[in-house]
Amino acid sequence: MSKRNFAGAPVISSAGLVEGNLEDDMEVTMLGAGQEVGRSCCVIKYKGRTIVCDSGVHPAFSGMAALPFLDELDWSTVDAILITHFHLDHAASLTYVMEKTNFKEGNGVVYMSHPTKAVYRYLMSDFVRVSTAGTDDKLFSEEEMLASWNSIIGFDFEQEILLPPSATSNTAVRFTSFAAGHVLGACMFLIEIAGTRVLYTGDYSTEEDRHLVPAKVPAWEKKPDVMICESTYGVQSHEPRLEKEAQFTTLVHNIIRRGGRVLLPVFALGRAQEILLILDEYWSEHPELHHIPIFFVSSLAIKCMDVYRQYIHTMSPNVRDKFSRGINPFDFKGKNSFIRPLDRGISKLNDKGPCVVMASPGFLTNGVSRELLEKWAPDPRNGLIITGYSVEGVMARTIMNEPTEIQALQGGAKILRRLSVDYISFSAHVDYTQNAKFIDEVMPAHLILVHGEANNMSRLRSALKTKFAERKDDIQIYTPRNVETVKLKFRGERMAKALGSLALTTPTPSSHLSGLLVSKDFTYTFLAPSDLRDFTGLSTSIIMQRQRLTVGVSWDLVRWHLRGMYGKIEEGRDAEGTPTMRVMQAVDIKAAGKFELAIEWVGSVTNDMVADSVIALVLGVDGSPASVKKTSSGPGSHCSHRHPHAEPSPPPADLPKADEAEATTSTPKEAETELDLLPSRLDRLIAFLDSYFGQVELIRPEDIVASPSPAAPSPPPAAAAADMEVDAGAEIDPNPLEPAEKAEQELAEAAEEEQTKERLEKEERIRKPRVPVIRVRLDDYVADVVVESLSVTSTHEPLQRRVESVIQLALAIVTPLSGGETNFTLDDVEKAKRAKRTEEPIPEEKEEVEEKAE
Ligand SMILES: [Zn+2]
Ligand SMILES: [Zn+2]
Repeated sequence: MSKRNFAGAPVISSAGLVEGNLEDDMEVTMLGAGQEVGRSCCVIKYKGRTIVCDSGVHPAFSGMAALPFLDELDWSTVDAILITHFHLDHAASLTYVMEKTNFKEGNGVVYMSHPTKAVYRYLMSDFVRVSTAGTDDKLFSEEEMLASWNSIIGFDFEQEILLPPSATSNTAVRFTSFAAGHVLGACMFLIEIAGTRVLYTGDYSTEEDRHLVPAKVPAWEKKPDVMICESTYGVQSHEPRLEKEAQFTTLVHNIIRRGGRVLLPVFALGRAQEILLILDEYWSEHPELHHIPIFFVSSLAIKCMDVYRQYIHTMSPNVRDKFSRGINPFDFKGKNSFIRPLDRGISKLNDKGPCVVMASPGFLTNGVSRELLEKWAPDPRNGLIITGYSVEGVMARTIMNEPTEIQALQGGAKILRRLSVDYISFSAHVDYTQNAKFIDEVMPAHLILVHGEANNMSRLRSALKTKFAERKDDIQIYTPRNVETVKLKFRGERMAKALGSLALTTPTPSSHLSGLLVSKDFTYTFLAPSDLRDFTGLSTSIIMQRQRLTVGVSWDLVRWHLRGMYGKIEEGRDAEGTPTMRVMQAVDIKAAGKFELAIEWVGSVTNDMVADSVIALVLGVDGSPASVKKTSSGPGSHCSHRHPHAEPSPPPADLPKADEAEATTSTPKEAETELDLLPSRLDRLIAFLDSYFGQVELIRPEDIVASPSPAAPSPPPAAAAADMEVDAGAEIDPNPLEPAEKAEQELAEAAEEEQTKERLEKEERIRKPRVPVIRVRLDDYVADVVVESLSVTSTHEPLQRRVESVIQLALAIVTPLSGGETNFTLDDVEKAKRAKRTEEPIPEEKEEVEEKAE
């Protein structure tokens, strides 16, 4: 059967399916970076779709402990993982998720920007190497990382990406990335799920920078409903960039002047590149420093310099301008550069005299930076400058309290700390002022703070609440802990543009419009079905419905019932010459084979309903009281063979194929005349009375001749039916009733009217009806309904009244009865008989009839 439609207009999405409930809650759960910095992993669930932003590790932990709370999510349900940038706290657990959870069992796709994807590969190789050195707690192998890396999809900034429908939901999801500053390739995501917009900032910076484009509030047509925002610096403020840079270069210069070595622990990628550019520039302006080497010890950074060179077009105007003048600011091997990259650890590092060494990791937890710290710590001429944000629990954070000793990583010996420790934040995260300004410009209804320590976060929340208290548009601020779900409610309001013919007239309040509501991607249009192709590009197609039914009844009985139900039936033949009846100009009934009907229609809401009723009617034909009356004469009493004149007339030429519709003898020429409806009326009336009284038969004066007295125990109904079968033969007589006979009957009727209310006369009339009557029996009583007048005669007053009221009821509720003429004519009786005669109860009997005819 055709797809059923719905109470309201169906919403057709781009995938052709119907969208779900518009009132679901959105659920945002942090599996990491909830009231902490590290292992960012944000799960957004809405309308059957699940999007995960970032999948990092916690830098203060190692092994499994560093992972986000991955077990809180069924990863096979994830539609997409979006990675904001390559930092380990945003990307390093991705391989684990892709290779060691059930993510692979679903259809989820991982996206990151092209530069992020390029850097991620090197960074993760390094991560595998560093994190597995001397430990059994290895999360994954390099092979696993590379295998999953291949399936990551890269994108360009501001490229809009539409997610494919999932197995369980076709809710439209798209996302767009915008430059977030911070590091090369870092972006924030505007994610739109079923029209609700979420901005996930990731780490971001709005500050001018030597090589990156700062984050800006995009010029979107509709602001986000939800903003999930980093809060690393809480309510702290950064110093102005130029002052900060001057402070930094002065500090470096001072350490060198006192004969010391400068240790700059950095992350290989990100701020390191910015600091290299600052130092390179400062050195070029200070010839007295030219003999002081700047080492950059990072094989990873050196590998990634190619990526930086490759993506210069995504960087700041400053870098692009230099590049256009033939200067590659990331070509540190060039003659003009003061930077000396070292990719083989510190074995080649000449630190006999003053020098500057940039080395990773930034947290001083292990590796080259830690090694140099332990080596240089006892010499007070040396200096350590922390340039980035450090999470709690790492050496870079501990040493800022200037302890007198530090612990050696190997062996745990105490090392005297005499080197100077300074902190100048080059962190590419927004400070309070920048963050508040950005939030103010976005002004979402819901703000979820993440990627911040609990204290920083709650201070930021209070500060923002105070700042926005005066505003009329309310902002809800949430600071969820890990695994704590924030539920957000949205109103299901949607705008639909009316197009085409529906838009010709301006609707007035409370007027009703009907049409198709089409949801294509993220817009709704409302239009007339005929405009679908022109305005949406969707093509319409016609669905032909076809049902084949096996029926044990003849074509004519089907026709008879269809007319009774639907009135006028169009008849003809289809293209293949199959006899066809068309109901309500919508549904074709075809004689498909012996006792087989094909019902065909063009699928639509109304046509489907008509077809359903036709099918129900056809399937019910066998059990219909009227059919029984018309077809069954009871075994032994079927007596057409006893009356040679009862043989059916040859089927007319335009009837169903003779072999398929034996003994069909209705006269198709009359098929479309108004009169043709009339037999249906009489039969419907008989069926109606039958349903009330159980024993109803049509009796004509001539039937009475051979019958026993009806006043005495009446003949069984079967016999009466048999009589009708017998008499049906009269129908083939071209002149069934002579005008003289009609006149006689009219006279007789007039005479009867004169002899009213005389019981004897009534009995006589019942005994010998002179006009066709419908005889109703109830227990021992009899009532006759005169076919022509519908007047009722009975010797039993209560039965008479009952029959009269049932007839009134029939006239009132059975449409074909009440429509047109109320009464029947004698022709109707003939038609009814004709209809009856043409019914063939069972094939065997039919054949018997034919044998007799031969
Ligand atoms: Zn970051
Ligand atoms: Zn981060």
